Amino acid sequence: MTGMTPCPCGSGTAYGACCGPLHDGTPAATAEALMRSRYTAYALGRTDHVFRTWHPRTRPDDVTPDPGVTWTGLEVLATEAGGPEDASGVVEFRARFRTAGAPQVLHERSRFERRGGGWVYVDGDVHG
Ligand SMILES: [Zn+2]
Repeated sequence: MTGMTPCPCGSGTAYGACCGPLHDGTPAATAEALMRSRYTAYALGRTDHVFRTWHPRTRPDDVTPDPGVTWTGLEVLATEAGGPEDASGVVEFRARFRTAGAPQVLHERSRFERRGGGWVYVDGDVHG
């Protein structure tokens, strides 16, 4: 993955101008940007970013992703608040992945909070 590669989050922007800077420590401006960067971190195995952007209150001790899962696409369906002036936000998304060769979909409404100038993931409701 180089900075010129299209970002795995599907934004249509190069990785180096999308989720890449967030992985290198730039605070996310919006909850959606943070959510996209976390999807891309899962896709690229950037476990450090997954850990760092998870609220300490809800973060598991071990955030290592399942090595049998390959993430194949992200679609942001809706957002509520989560902007530069907000303290919290919700992002609803559909993330596609393959496990044991079978295509799967994760449909979740994730909650985010502003923390330390950026955003962190709090928790989410998974839809069937
Ligand atoms: Zn991205």
